[in-house]
Amino acid sequence: MQAAQRTDDNPALWHAISEADRLVLPLLVLFVLGDFPEASAVHFRWMLEGLEDTSVRLRDAGIAFSIQRGDPAVVVARMGLKAAMVICDASPHRWARSARVRLTAEITVPVIEVDGESIVPLRIASAKQEWAARTIRPKISAALGVYLEGPRLPLRAPRKTADQLDVPSNDGLFNAYGKSLNPVDLTGKPVLPSSGSLAAETRLNSFLDNGLDSYDKDRNDPNLSGTSGLSPYLHFGQISALAVARAARIHEGPSLPAFLEQLVLRRELCRNFAYYRPDDYDAWSSVPAWAVRTLGEHANDPRDYLYTRSDFEAAATHDPYWNAAQHQLLMTGTIHNYMRMYWGKMILAWSRTPREAFETALGLNDRLALDGRDPNGWAGVAWCFGLHDRPWPQRAVFGTVRSMSAAGLKRKFDADAYARTWNNSQPSKQ
Ligand SMILES: Cc1cc2nc3c(=O)[nH]c(=O)nc-3n(C[C@H](O)[C@H](O)[C@H](O)COP(=O)(O)OP(=O)(O)OC[C@H]3O[C@@H](n4cnc5c(N)ncnc54)[C@H](O)[C@@H]3O)c2cc1C
Repeated sequence: MQAAQRTDDNPALWHAISEADRLVLPLLVLFVLGDFPEASAVHFRWMLEGLEDTSVRLRDAGIAFSIQRGDPAVVVARMGLKAAMVICDASPHRWARSARVRLTAEITVPVIEVDGESIVPLRIASAKQEWAARTIRPKISAALGVYLEGPRLPLRAPRKTADQLDVPSNDGLFNAYGKSLNPVDLTGKPVLPSSGSLAAETRLNSFLDNGLDSYDKDRNDPNLSGTSGLSPYLHFGQISALAVARAARIHEGPSLPAFLEQLVLRRELCRNFAYYRPDDYDAWSSVPAWAVRTLGEHANDPRDYLYTRSDFEAAATHDPYWNAAQHQLLMTGTIHNYMRMYWGKMILAWSRTPREAFETALGLNDRLALDGRDPNGWAGVAWCFGLHDRPWPQRAVFGTVRSMSAAGLKRKFDADAYARTWNNSQPSKQ
């Protein structure tokens, strides 16, 4: 268990339980805490909080759980497990892919990968990197029904309990990053959401009851809580995207298509990008050639302002709206989607070169966002530089890459109210 850190609606876990039952063997779930690239202590702590809850649920169902530190291939070899079979969940992350490949080379029993983190499994959705939402839409639409109509997969106890299985548990690792750092805002409210599958389900139910109906109307106003807030839970696999889509469909309502467009279409497009660009999904070379060309033609255009990565990180630009977005990121681990687009676009506008801008935006997003280090983040940053988009009318610095401006923000929503909210509240440490 690496990507799908939950007990319910987890196809890899379900398959493992089915195989354990078929072979009448007990089941061990192993999680390996690796040096996940770009992960910070905040990421680790948040993840481990949710994972500990998952370990309790598994053990209550008679499934052994072990958490170990290191490299999965080495850990499995070191533990000397006499497994009949290894079932892995799937993630397009390079670290996870390489670990699975090395694991397969290390052991002689079958290793099976189950892609349960996409709604339509990546290889079924498309056999190649897609250009844009319009090219992947018909493929996803054609396959979607099978998955949406499929059975739910609640946790079930295997026939044979793992009580007698002798595996080192190493539960002290759950506290490896401490538990006491809970940043709070000026009103004393924790700034990070609670972690874990239960918190994810609570968040989903609250969104379905209070947010889904007005999603289409409210989602582009960063002053409102008009979106689901599910991205960190989806990133750490604490909730299944398919289960969210099914719950939203049952709820129905006028905004359902708009919500599914983001949760299914946009998310699967980003996963397709990461899957088919394993070597450079997080590198400048993933930006499309037309965009690199037009940005290159405008490389010498004078920039109105020039900032370094440290200036951006410290929210020290001249622009109160941009600084507010960066403060929101620093405090809550996320930025509202609309401001996230502006945030990335303006890093492009105010950096020495487009490539430096790309590396600044990607580095900050991966390092500081609770939902970062995710296909949505890599593709989201690359989108600011033209990925999955088309040419727009020429502008200075941007060339034909779509631009954004502060004036545009003000036309869309009360940008000054947003700036007041985030520039006036600083986190403290408890
Ligand atoms: C520069 C930039 C960086 C981004 N970095 C990340 C990131 O690190 N992690 C991340 O999950 N998303 C990222 N996004 C996409 C998007 O901003 C977030 O998914 C969204 O704001 C999360 O909030 P929510 O869960 O309330 O979304 P909702 O609007 O409630 O949508 C539900 C789910 O749909 C998916 N989704 C929504 N919008 C998008 C989108 N534009 N592209 C792909 N999937 C989407 C997400 O999984 C989201 O949780 C980034 C976008 C940009 C422009």
